[in-house]
Amino acid sequence: MTAAPPLIQLERLEKTYGSGKTAFHALKGIDIVIEEREFVALMGSSGSGKSTAMNIIGCIDTPTAGTFWFKGIDTASFNRHERALLRRRYLGFVFQNFNLLSRTTALENVALPLLYRGIDRKERARRAMEALDLVGLTPWATHTSAELSGGQQQRVAIARALVSQPALLLADEPTGNLDSERSNDIMELLVRLNVDNGLTILMVTHELSMASFASKMVFLNDGLVESIRQNP
Ligand code: ADP
Ligand code: MG
Repeated sequence: MTAAPPLIQLERLEKTYGSGKTAFHALKGIDIVIEEREFVALMGSSGSGKSTAMNIIGCIDTPTAGTFWFKGIDTASFNRHERALLRRRYLGFVFQNFNLLSRTTALENVALPLLYRGIDRKERARRAMEALDLVGLTPWATHTSAELSGGQQQRVAIARALVSQPALLLADEPTGNLDSERSNDIMELLVRLNVDNGLTILMVTHELSMASFASKMVFLNDGLVESIRQNP
């Protein structure tokens, strides 16, 4: 029996912005593996290439060289439409700014991705309630985002990312707009979803205190992987 391929594998991946004299090598050949059920923190100072790597894994951008394997499939074989499908079906996104509709209830925010999938209203509500329950927000379902604290809003955003049952959660500085207590709450939630629900997570952060919640830390420096550390 052969082992299942990793969920994500970047092999000698490069990204060059522009060309000729103005070409900028944001990624210079990085190797990163994300196994199913792993919680990986991508670290590095500003300009090290974190967002560039995240955008490629998130199928928002494509590499200029090297290979991005998704479940053992070379994504270079995907066209724009197929990449969009991969994004919708397999990836969930969480951002620093939550990106919720402010005058819309938590329930409606979480149910929204299901609307585009043609799922009927009752089933949308059922699945959205399930996702809100996972993040501990059942009592807040009918409150609008504007009525919620920053920490609660980020939990709604996480529920919205989870409602489509993604294979990978991509979180870009998810605690960047939160104080340290709220940040720890969010990290504990992500750890719980990872450990208890088997959710695979890739999180970008520049804070070591947040990265240390992950199971593996990948440090980028100037477009290269500087080191990889397994957390105890
Ligand atoms: P990080 O997220 O770690 O701060 P980025 O991946 O955003 O780093 O950027 C890495 C480098 O690539 C930076 O020097 C940045 O200025 C450059 N860069 C990012 N996007 C572009 C672009 N669209 N065109 C040219 N250079 C870019
Ligand atoms: Mg960035």
